[in-house]
Amino acid sequence: MVSPVRSICIVGGGTAGWLTAGIIAARHRSGLQVTLVESETIGIVGVGEGTWPTMRSTLKKMGVSETEFFRQCNTSFKQGAKFSRWTTGEASDFYYHPLVLPEGFPSLDLAPFWNRYSEEHENAPSFSNAVCYQEAVCELGLAPKLITSPEYAGIANYAYHLDAGRFASFIREHCVKNLGVRHVVDDVTRVARTESGDVEYVETSRSGRLTGDLFVDCSGFRAILLGQTLGVPFVSRSDVLFIDRALAVQVPYENEQSNITPHTLSVAQKNGWIWDIGLQNRRGVGYVFSSKHTDTDAALEELRAYIGPGHDNLQPREIKINPGHRETFWKGNVVAVGLSGGFLEPLEASALVLIELSAEMISALMPATRETLDIVARRFNETTRYRWDRIVDFLKLHYILSRRTDSRFWVDNRDPAGIPESLQEQMALWRYRAPGDQDFSSNNEMFPAASYQYVLFGMGFRMDTSLTAPERDPGTAQRAFAQNEALKVKWTRLLPRNRDLIDKIKEHGLQRI
Ligand SMILES: Cc1cc2nc3c(=O)[nH]c(=O)nc-3n(C[C@H](O)[C@H](O)[C@H](O)COP(=O)(O)OP(=O)(O)OC[C@H]3O[C@@H](n4cnc5c(N)ncnc54)[C@H](O)[C@@H]3O)c2cc1C
Repeated sequence: MVSPVRSICIVGGGTAGWLTAGIIAARHRSGLQVTLVESETIGIVGVGEGTWPTMRSTLKKMGVSETEFFRQCNTSFKQGAKFSRWTTGEASDFYYHPLVLPEGFPSLDLAPFWNRYSEEHENAPSFSNAVCYQEAVCELGLAPKLITSPEYAGIANYAYHLDAGRFASFIREHCVKNLGVRHVVDDVTRVARTESGDVEYVETSRSGRLTGDLFVDCSGFRAILLGQTLGVPFVSRSDVLFIDRALAVQVPYENEQSNITPHTLSVAQKNGWIWDIGLQNRRGVGYVFSSKHTDTDAALEELRAYIGPGHDNLQPREIKINPGHRETFWKGNVVAVGLSGGFLEPLEASALVLIELSAEMISALMPATRETLDIVARRFNETTRYRWDRIVDFLKLHYILSRRTDSRFWVDNRDPAGIPESLQEQMALWRYRAPGDQDFSSNNEMFPAASYQYVLFGMGFRMDTSLTAPERDPGTAQRAFAQNEALKVKWTRLLPRNRDLIDKIKEHGLQRI
């Protein structure tokens, strides 16, 4: 006798719940019944506006129209992040982590060439500017594609900024109307377990019992299934990443024609950093800070100073962050996706992408039976833990390279006691050579080697190239640098202003594929 997994019950209707429902239902249309229950009274967290380029393939696979997504979610383009004041704290201090890979990467690695050049020339261009044309596109406020580019296709690689509240409703409508997801609006009041410890059903206030062969906990910070019911411990990462508070606020534009910044702004402050995300109708701004290093009133003052005068009526919302994740993410017939699995500061927008990857993996591991679920769970846990560890390393990288001394926050961040050993090892190797694919052996890497290069060299890190043999063919590198300059000239001339393209998409639509 085998017990096939035929029905999936998702608890929670935030971004995690609806993306998981959509990803699974799109792939297993007739094989699996997906039910999602969400509370009417417990709201969604309602932040989370920065995504990765993966969101394009996620939405495309779900059959979502990109044009409708722009029309309904105040969506805008994101072409990476601009980090200001992270290295020295001065007003002129910035670097980019763009989404386009360095020219020729990975078959050609321009990092050693640029490293040598920048040591010999005081006015050498920044790393990202020398190897990638996207910084120039972003600095001019341009879009990553043309109105003639079909849906989901770009000239430059791109992701999105989106309105989190609208996005959940938008995906919900698509899941219910087009993908056959059963939607229950009700509160889960009790979770019943079988003798073996699995979840048997969830009891709701008005809709009775909801059963499932597999339960996905998307209940946000409450983690009512994996945390509260199954008692899977929480692993704090606050010894490495100190951010534990957010003050989030929505800031109106000066006027309807204000340009929309085509990248996330991340501006370092005394005890944390401010995100600034441009949507169609407003900016989403927030200060994430360490409560061990400052208090809410002082942080509020810094946030207000950043936003500028004329916005005293805005009341930022405080959100507590417990940096960390569950010890395991799948136990028995329960798997956690989204905030129920954990959360770290949103520095590289790694939460939504982890939701996409987790839901993809659950979906790919189906069909399964109860008998094989423990094997599936073990694989999911190994992969997911690996991903969390790499995110922790990559986020910490942004802090250890800072030279800021204006507060304990920045100094404490460089204390070797708080730097994971895995990151310390990488740094020891990168002293002599640039990050490359050989440093990341898993199929489940979160960040490509190029991302590490952008952050390292962007923050003023230089390799010791005294041990490096001279390149046999420097001409190839020279041609790649020249090609990048040519692409800069071409695309800064041809790409439209970000708001202009978004307005056109809303009016005329993009060609569907
Ligand atoms: C300050 C901040 C900034 C962020 N910025 C980014 C970013 O830029 N990029 C990014 O990728 N991520 C970001 N995130 C993370 C992102 O917001 C979340 O990962 C994402 O919104 C998913 O949330 P969720 O669906 O897990 O939880 P929630 O949105 O909290 O949804 C929980 C759901 O569970 C339901 N629920 C709870 N209890 C019950 C119950 N008893 N019965 C029925 N239903 C119940 C609720 O009704 C709700 O529908 C940020 C997070 C924070 C805190």
